[in-house]
Amino acid sequence: MKKRAYTAEEYAEGIASGNRVLLSRAITLIESTRPEHQELAHQVLERCMPLAKSLVRIGITGVPGVGKSTFIEAFGSQIIEQGHRVAVLAIDPSSRLNRGSILGDKTRMEQLSLDENAYIRPSAAGDSLGGVARKTREAMILCEAAGFDVVLIETVGVGQSETTVRDLTDFFLLLLLPNAGDELQGMKRGIVEMCDWLAINKRDINATAAKIARAQYNNALHLFPKKGSNWTASCSLCSATNGEGILDIWETIKQYIELTKTNDFFDKNRKSQTLYWLHESIQQELGNAFRRNERVIAQLPDIETAVLTGKKSVSQATKELMQLIIF
Ligand code: GDP
Repeated sequence: MKKRAYTAEEYAEGIASGNRVLLSRAITLIESTRPEHQELAHQVLERCMPLAKSLVRIGITGVPGVGKSTFIEAFGSQIIEQGHRVAVLAIDPSSRLNRGSILGDKTRMEQLSLDENAYIRPSAAGDSLGGVARKTREAMILCEAAGFDVVLIETVGVGQSETTVRDLTDFFLLLLLPNAGDELQGMKRGIVEMCDWLAINKRDINATAAKIARAQYNNALHLFPKKGSNWTASCSLCSATNGEGILDIWETIKQYIELTKTNDFFDKNRKSQTLYWLHESIQQELGNAFRRNERVIAQLPDIETAVLTGKKSVSQATKELMQLIIF
């Protein structure tokens, strides 16, 4: 049976009243590459934006196997008990082509996925991290309009996706394994530096190793320059399977919100993120317009050959191609 077509108003009203089917369908529109879907998605988004008032957006990263989905399941369930509603999204650079490997398998968060106060959406597919991030950001706004006041964005601890999630969220949490001595556990120092909190998971397996690792990370954290938020990152221990230390992390996040709302960093950071995504979006659209331009399509092979044979410099070739879309 063909699905009924809804207007932008119907989508927005449905989302605002907590209709999950319409929320999911609106996110599918956002993820679609068809121009008519994108047009409708923009209209829905504009209507939902004023309604999107979330308490906090939390980024979660860590190497595969560290326990991210187990953590999210425990954390999500515990804060739902405190009256919050939780949306879980993902940015998964390994699933650009295959839909959502991070959250595609819903069994990873069995309990949470059944909870009516949780909404779990697999990572969007796309041909660039920037494109996926833009869709995730828009999906996040729709979730917030649907009344999910805590948004979790999960990513795997590899590559560029941490920076992207950092630019989408207020608070960035890194999960680590209790392997003392594995300094920074193969993760780039830069990732530790951009985090607001480190949590060593699986402390139930080896509490001694976990404590040693905590001391090492706390020492390393002291060496980083102070953050613009004026917040001091630190390291705690938790166990996602037995729930230990999970609510302490929520308490930490609440302290972070209080501090950064008081010193204005919270709002300033969200504003600068919005501007960042505006400029990212402009770049993406310029790139799309360039690649779709018929004159560019016609002349690109010859210009590429001229560059490869040394007849044209890269700068000259770029200039000539840009002129094709500007004039
Ligand atoms: P992800 O790849 O980071 O999402 O990791 P998962 O959440 O899938 O967890 C990987 C494995 O570690 C699973 O078998 C979990 O049951 C296990 N695990 C996760 N957290 C803990 C923990 O706190 N303690 C113990 N003992 N095992 C855990």
